[in-house]
Amino acid sequence: MTDETLAHIKHSIARAMGGRFYPEKFKGIDLDAISSEADFQKLPFTDKADLRGAYPLGLLAAPEEKIVRVHSSSGTTGAPVIIPYTQQDVDDWTLMFCRCYETAGVTARDRVHITPGYGLWTAGIGFQLGAERLGAMAVPMGPGGTDKQIQMMIDMGSTVLCATSSYALLLAEEIEKRGVKSKIRLRKGIIGSERWGEKMRRRIAGELGVELYDIYGLTEIYGPGIGINCKYGSGMHLWTDYLYPEIIDPKTGENLPGDQIGELTLTTLCKEGAPLIRYRTHDLTRMLPGVCACGRPYPRIDTIIGRSDDMVKVRGAIIYPGRVDALLATIESVSSEYQIMIDHLNGRDILTLFYETPLEKNTLAYKALEKMVEKSFKDKIGLTPVAKGVAIGELPRSEKKTTRVFDNRY
Ligand code: ZN
Repeated sequence: MTDETLAHIKHSIARAMGGRFYPEKFKGIDLDAISSEADFQKLPFTDKADLRGAYPLGLLAAPEEKIVRVHSSSGTTGAPVIIPYTQQDVDDWTLMFCRCYETAGVTARDRVHITPGYGLWTAGIGFQLGAERLGAMAVPMGPGGTDKQIQMMIDMGSTVLCATSSYALLLAEEIEKRGVKSKIRLRKGIIGSERWGEKMRRRIAGELGVELYDIYGLTEIYGPGIGINCKYGSGMHLWTDYLYPEIIDPKTGENLPGDQIGELTLTTLCKEGAPLIRYRTHDLTRMLPGVCACGRPYPRIDTIIGRSDDMVKVRGAIIYPGRVDALLATIESVSSEYQIMIDHLNGRDILTLFYETPLEKNTLAYKALEKMVEKSFKDKIGLTPVAKGVAIGELPRSEKKTTRVFDNRY
């Protein structure tokens, strides 16, 4: 950590202490005594549960008259989290988003088809502001209505698709099914940072005929747009003039060195409405070493390989969806879509792996594939699952994030 970064962090802490949330959280800590990276790393983490406790406006750290907007993150359980934004926060987010588009090679000549939702819960507006700042033409579709999406995509000659990976896949499959691929002018896909495997990436890229970019972000910290990969690789540049990243061991909370995989933790450097210090994203990744071939000065995080909460232990083997993605990508006749169910039956944990396959049910090839999936799972991940092939399209596609692991043991 440079002196300059430390100064920015201290400034952000001071700003955070102007609200109600952090004076409570940091009670009894001598913040003036923070003079090194090691001191900073002793500060307690902020977690989503803390933010829920601050509902509705407990996170507010700027005078109310400076707040111009709120967004909210829902999560699957518990109270929502409300994040207040000042105009400066909105401007900073817009600028970061514009930078993401530029990094992906999007220009003012592009027509940007935006399928993420608008409103309180989601951040379609971020995709739109960034596109407008760039000078591109935003086509603010929002989610759903696949017929209309494809029709508009054709009529408007959309060149850039913004979507979650599962929705991009659904659109790709529908375009294929309707035989309208030749009318689609898409050249790039900007895909929300949900963890997705190489196989799904290849399918979407292949079926839509586009170059794909992973955009990163979370509502608690602006929203999508705080990082993206460039054309040189899958690592995502993180806009560290606005954020300070750390990688921690999700179990112990210790900072991890170098390029080890752990949980990404972020500190905002400029945020006014709701600054966050050492916020746990629960996203598993690592910092990529060295400077990117594109020469950008921003460090890179690796593709998100899973959620620290999705990491499950079954009969001693550690399983997270990223590993399963990688495994299935190596097996022919298995599509990118799968689901894992973990149950406790007769005193034993059973892992069932459902995967999509074009093979016809109960044929010899189908049964051989099940055996093969079971064997490579055992070889690479360390336990034998019950493998079950299902037809293509049988597993749920979602406009939101896809849940892959269902742990029914508790
Ligand atoms: Zn780069």
